[in-house]
Amino acid sequence: MKIEIMLKCSVCDGYGYIADRHPNDPSARDIDCQECDGEGQKASVEIYDSIADAKADYPDAISFTERDK
Ligand SMILES: [Zn+2]
Repeated sequence: MKIEIMLKCSVCDGYGYIADRHPNDPSARDIDCQECDGEGQKASVEIYDSIADAKADYPDAISFTERDK
């Protein structure tokens, strides 16, 4: 079955935005994370026999959605 796995974005750590330079720099600004388009999460569709198998590979995922059989 196809399973859509929702993962927390690893670039912005789920916040949806990142500093455009080192956060300690006083002129740093928050900009939308380009990796996840500001969503803070990314969906990945993969083939697994069951949702339990997907959970075994992605223990930190936010959600699992069955797409078709
Ligand atoms: Zn992101």
